[in-house]
Amino acid sequence: MLYYDLHIHTALSPCASDDMTPNNIVNIAILKGLDVIGITDHNSAKNVEVVYNLGTKKGLIVVPGIEVQTKEEVHILCYFYSVEECIKFSEFIDKNMIKIKNQSTIFGNQLVMNEEDNVITEVDYSLLASTNFTVEEVFDQMEGKGAAVLAHLDRGSYSVISNLGFIPDIKNLKTIELSKAIRTEIFLKSYPEYRRYRIVKSSDAHDLGYISEREEFLPCKSTLKSVVDWLCGY
Ligand SMILES: [Zn+2]
Ligand SMILES: [Zn+2]
Repeated sequence: MLYYDLHIHTALSPCASDDMTPNNIVNIAILKGLDVIGITDHNSAKNVEVVYNLGTKKGLIVVPGIEVQTKEEVHILCYFYSVEECIKFSEFIDKNMIKIKNQSTIFGNQLVMNEEDNVITEVDYSLLASTNFTVEEVFDQMEGKGAAVLAHLDRGSYSVISNLGFIPDIKNLKTIELSKAIRTEIFLKSYPEYRRYRIVKSSDAHDLGYISEREEFLPCKSTLKSVVDWLCGY
């Protein structure tokens, strides 16, 4: 049994607080008694490796991830079996997204940090943009690389339900995410057909205080592979 929070933004996401540094995230997760966290910045994995290295040293499983925004402005959480695979995908996403200068004074900083929480660079184009891919194309791209999970389905924006009105029939969709604002049973009452999916509930933390408590767990072994396998439906 692994207690988790698989949806955490670092200071790289403009909407996240600058306090979301690699060390702060790892230390708070450990303090809260979590066994596994997922790092899922918007359209980029530039802080994944440092958090992964810091977490691994302290016995925390860190799932390398990216929250990809599709053409339809739907958010999809992409989780990978390795940091290398995640970074490769991040570079691919980078080549396939609309680049507009980030106005950091309005939208926030996009900080890339090292293991000492020092800022090594800033991303100057906005990460809050859509990629050129549809929902289906992101799932196709993820085939064999890891798990793709539809994010915060119950929310009124950036979700498949809010933007498309339904969950499209996708072959390798096995897991969906609900926000903490809704009880799973209440959601399933409105959408009983989604009982066939595995459901995760993560924080979507943009501030340290929002990182989950030791509440939600996965029936997995203590390995990164076991967690990503479970999200893939195995
Ligand atoms: Zn989102
Ligand atoms: Zn998010």
